[in-house]
Order: sequence, then structure tokens, then C-alpha cells
Amino acid sequence: MDIFELTKQLMSIHSVSGEEEAVGFWLRDFLESLGWTVELQKVSENQNNVIAYLNDKPRVWFSTHMDTVPPFIPPTEDDEKIYGRGSCDAKGIIAAQITAAEELRKQRIEDIGLLYTVEEERSSNGARAANEHLLAAKCEYMINGEPTDNELAIGSKGSFRLKIKTTGKAAHSAYPEMGDSAIETLLDILDDIRHTKFPSDEFFGETTVNIGVIEGGVALNVIPPKAEASLLIRLTTPRAPIEEALHSVIRGRGEIEVLSCSEPVRMLEVDGFKQKTVRFTTDIPYLTNWGQPLLLGPGSILVAHTKDEFVMKRDLERAVELYTQLAVWLLGT
Ligand SMILES: [Zn+2]
Repeated sequence: MDIFELTKQLMSIHSVSGEEEAVGFWLRDFLESLGWTVELQKVSENQNNVIAYLNDKPRVWFSTHMDTVPPFIPPTEDDEKIYGRGSCDAKGIIAAQITAAEELRKQRIEDIGLLYTVEEERSSNGARAANEHLLAAKCEYMINGEPTDNELAIGSKGSFRLKIKTTGKAAHSAYPEMGDSAIETLLDILDDIRHTKFPSDEFFGETTVNIGVIEGGVALNVIPPKAEASLLIRLTTPRAPIEEALHSVIRGRGEIEVLSCSEPVRMLEVDGFKQKTVRFTTDIPYLTNWGQPLLLGPGSILVAHTKDEFVMKRDLERAVELYTQLAVWLLGT
């Protein structure tokens, strides 16, 4: 199957996060038909990571995720592009990695493995489970795929998700002096956060804050007793100094509930490849047992997760060359 057919075949199987079972079964059957040894690693009742290899302790692995964000958008194409959900994030990448792996096999290089996870777009629970797999310890380099425009990403920002919650005292809105507005307190805190310069990092760049969701209050005529805001902070430093800065901004007026956190990661630099840092997070922070991470993939993160998602066909072909070169270089040193 050529790389474009393989991309479209994978895209045609619905696999929004939580519903990756069918695509996992298809990949298992396909890789087995090519002669790979394939394990399905159970992550939940109907979610399995796909782990495939040619020998019993590969040193270099390719990996990315099988799940997509909703909604499902079936594949279409023209001469230059493949359009639809998963074209660049990340089914085109799976196709490019498998094609590169088969290319390496033709050169009698079989010291390679393939890891395809579930749940990357939500909790990275697939990667967390994969991190416990016994083969991880034997892996020296993990080439993870996400859309990086085929440039080698040498750093990715972390992601810190949290809620700020405020409580007040409900009262009749005609008698505000009897109550205490949780929403006004929250607005004050958020305004202070918007005017705070958080620590940044020379390598990773600026720490940025998105106030993504605000909720609170009960009715127009009631002083609101509760409010909360959900924030996503793109980390360029460890979490601790940012959390400290938040506490000193909040000054006891509200509480922080941490939802999740992944720290910024530095990836391996390789001479001869175009390099950059990226702002998004990946499965890599959860694959710490899988050797040194690298990150590269065809397509642009700017179209991933949009209704216009696409990948250039020539970028898929170029990714095959780059993945092949990377694996050869890593195995040779
Ligand atoms: Zn992705």
C-alpha cells in the first residue's frame, strides 16, 4: 500500500479519543501482514496501544498517537494534498513512519519498533501505560511524530492546566452590602493575572496564559456565592515558580485546583536537520522510560484540530526520507 493510500485508509477509520479500538485492530492486522510482531497493550476496556517490532529489543522507535480530536472528517484529496481529520495529526505521520520502517527493512535495518498510543489528545493515558512496558528500557531513541513542518523540534513547551475558584456570600442583589460577590473577586484576580509577567526562559521563550473558561453565579438577582476560571498556561520553566507566582497574585482571595501538568521538554538535536522549538505538548513527557526523545513530523500544527486540516503529499514523502535518515544516524552512533 503506498503512503497516500495508507494515510487515507487510516483516516477512514473513525478514532476520536476514547474510540480507537477499530483503528488499533486494523493497524495490528496490517503490520502482522507485513511480518511485524504486534502486541496490543490494554489501556482501558476498548482502548489498546499498538506496539510492533521486528526483533526483541529495538533501540530506535517511531511513535505517535492513533486518536484524533472530534469531529470525524472523512479523507478527500487533490493532486497536492490530503484533507480531513487526522491527515496531519497524526495518521499521515503513522503512514510516513511505517513507510520509513519498511524502507529501513529493505536496507536490512531491523532494530526498530513502532508505538501507537491512544488518548494523546486528552489525558495521554495511552502514553502513561506504554511507559510501563518492558521494551521501554531497551529503547535508546524515541522518534515521536507530531506536525512540525518536517523540522526537528528540539524543545516543546509544557502545559499547566488549573482552576482558580473563589467563594463569596449569596445575598439579594438589592442589598449587596449583605453579600460578597465571588465573580467580582475572580475578575480582580484574573485582571491581576493578565498584568503579571510570569518567568520565561531563553530557550523556550515566553510563558503564556489562556483564560479559557469562566463559570459562576446563580441568577441575575443574586450576589454570586461561587465562581471559577479554568486556565491553561504554556510552561517554559518548571511548574513550581509559576505556581508560586500565581499564589502571590491570588493572595488568599481564591484557591488553585491543579488539573494536570506536563513540564517543558528538550529533545535531541541532530546536525543537518532544520531545528526549532514548538509551543504544543505531546506524549513525550509521559514516555520518560523510552530513551532520548526526538520530535519531527510532516504537516502544520496550525491546521491540526481545524475543519480544514490537511497534509501536503510531498511533505509525507519528505517525512519518510527524514525518518529513515534519522533512524540510520541514531543507529550508527
Ligand atoms: Zn497530535
